[in-house]
Amino acid sequence: MLSVRDLHVRYGRSVAALHGVDLAVPDDGVLAVLGSNGAGKSTLLRAISGTLRLHRGLITGGEIRFGDRRIDRLDPAAIVRRGVVGAPEGRQVFTRMTVEENLRAGGITRSSAERATARRRVHELFPVLRARAHQRGGLLSGGEQQMLAIGRALMSAPRVLLLDEPSLGLAPRVVEQIARIIREIHAQGTAVVLVEQNAVMALGVADHAVVLEVGRVALSGSSEELSRSEDVRHLYLGGH
Ligand code: ATP
Repeated sequence: MLSVRDLHVRYGRSVAALHGVDLAVPDDGVLAVLGSNGAGKSTLLRAISGTLRLHRGLITGGEIRFGDRRIDRLDPAAIVRRGVVGAPEGRQVFTRMTVEENLRAGGITRSSAERATARRRVHELFPVLRARAHQRGGLLSGGEQQMLAIGRALMSAPRVLLLDEPSLGLAPRVVEQIARIIREIHAQGTAVVLVEQNAVMALGVADHAVVLEVGRVALSGSSEELSRSEDVRHLYLGGH
């Protein structure tokens, strides 16, 4: 179980980005985090993955636990070793490195046997990454780069995978493909935190969801409940 309790985050002195966020992701769960621009979704993922400092952010209160251990004071590499792994924001594949080299870079915290198992899993989930193994990352399409970003995260054998808007900028058909793959990753036993502006996609994949509004959890419940909620329908599902 990954749990966030009363989390407060600031950027510098003036920006309070999260004001007391609570949530939990069971080991076999997929949690969607919805919310409009600036609600604090990326901040939440940065806090969990330990990368806030890279953005001049700081946890000023609360705690994050994975299992029975606190992880909110660990550095990003230690958090990855514990099994909590993010696909980088904005995909950020290494454009000059080949697909294979990108994947290898994702597995550096694991033994070579673990990497081999993880690579097999990645190639089964994303056959295109095997087909393009020796092509440069920068030559892949947007959807393929997203797959590579997720594949790279899977190379460190996560127990919890953190995804920041994997549907961003992708055609509907590709979004559906990514959604299917996230369901498959979950079915194989990896918990997922799915940050999305695309509420239709996220609620279709997740079992639970929270809606962040200006740094607070405004709504939470099962995906079914939230799909029926008037507020969510109005704000995020086109009001139908
Ligand atoms: P988006 O979908 O637009 O990325 P978000 O829900 O992910 O939105 P965050 O990026 O987490 O929202 O931003 C939350 C708040 O923190 C916003 O007010 C934003 O302006 C502020 N913020 C984010 N990153 C920084 C930063 N590096 N320095 C200062 N303020 C920041």
